Amino acid sequence: WDMFVLAFVERLFRPTFKKDDFVLGKKLGEGAFGVVYKVSLAKKTSGKEGDLVLKKATEYGAVEIWMNERVRRACANSCADFVYGFLESSSKKGAEYWLIWRFEGESTLADLIQSKEFPYNVESMILGEVQDLPKGLERENKIIQTILRQLLFALDGLHSTGIVHRDIKPQNIIFSEGSRTFKIIDLGAATDLRVGINYIPKEFLLDPRYAAPEQYIMSTQTPSAPSAPVAAALSPVLWQLNLPDRFDIYSTGLILLQMAFPSFRSDSGLIQFNRQLKRCDYDLNAWRKSVGPRANADLRRGFELLDLDGGIGWELLTSMVRYKARQRTSAKAALAHPYFDKEGLLALSIMQ
Ligand code: ADP
Ligand code: MG
Repeated sequence: WDMFVLAFVERLFRPTFKKDDFVLGKKLGEGAFGVVYKVSLAKKTSGKEGDLVLKKATEYGAVEIWMNERVRRACANSCADFVYGFLESSSKKGAEYWLIWRFEGESTLADLIQSKEFPYNVESMILGEVQDLPKGLERENKIIQTILRQLLFALDGLHSTGIVHRDIKPQNIIFSEGSRTFKIIDLGAATDLRVGINYIPKEFLLDPRYAAPEQYIMSTQTPSAPSAPVAAALSPVLWQLNLPDRFDIYSTGLILLQMAFPSFRSDSGLIQFNRQLKRCDYDLNAWRKSVGPRANADLRRGFELLDLDGGIGWELLTSMVRYKARQRTSAKAALAHPYFDKEGLLALSIMQ
């Protein structure tokens, strides 16, 4: 009851919007299921809204609104700050769902890893100051650790809520300039297994560059969505049986790989890596052996970074990128991995 009253009161005091309240700005993205714009409010209401983001979505927008409402109540800090979602039926193109978020910042992790400066460009964003330290592997490793820890923290929030994102990739990770942390965006392909929302995976939505090898997140023996109360009762069991969250862990492992190896940051580089790994039956150690003799300087440097401190970075990577979902680590277990020492990036800047 407390939760119910709280949710009701929260909804009562949250601003509501309609179509004419927004002035469209720059287009931020366009996919098969919607267009995303930076927007501002036509007339300032309370004055503290600032810039917003608007997604005009097709029929899948209904699920995305539902997911964002749930995230805001259960694990608000994991994702971009959701403001409001509604059905806009007066548009010429027919009914559209409009979703509004706070504008978190200019850069996604995809933008940031494409820079020649990565990971140093991220260090100053997280710490809010420029470090006057010698550049080197140790420092790069600390920055990458910090990014990965923030990402796993956000993911653990989603998974603990029962949500599997299914489209984890650098394009869907935004740097929040307000909180100086990375947050997850784009719940358009997400599934909530606790209540059976979007239970049947929309396979065609999955990005093949970052998708784990399993075709179906839930086993094919559970093909249809049970009714909500049945799903709610069954889902902890199904979760334990299928470990659907490990799909996101595989994608996260590929992001760690891209951060460590510059040559896999481009689309073509990542696709080439995926092909090589598949040829090694998804065994990272076998892949490492296979490239060992012909590794260029760029690859060798990546291995060197992951081999720091007795190879704990490589150990964590291999515990995330595995063929069998069951053998992959969880977000919570990964956060307790020795790769993440307690102090991280902040300590490095204070110590030296
Ligand atoms: P799509 O379905 O097109 O992938 P996304 O939700 O991923 O839609 O948004 C597209 C792009 O818009 C993102 O890659 C990001 O650059 C930008 N974006 C989305 N949400 C926000 C936000 N809350 N703050 C700032 N930029 C955002
Ligand atoms: Mg996206």
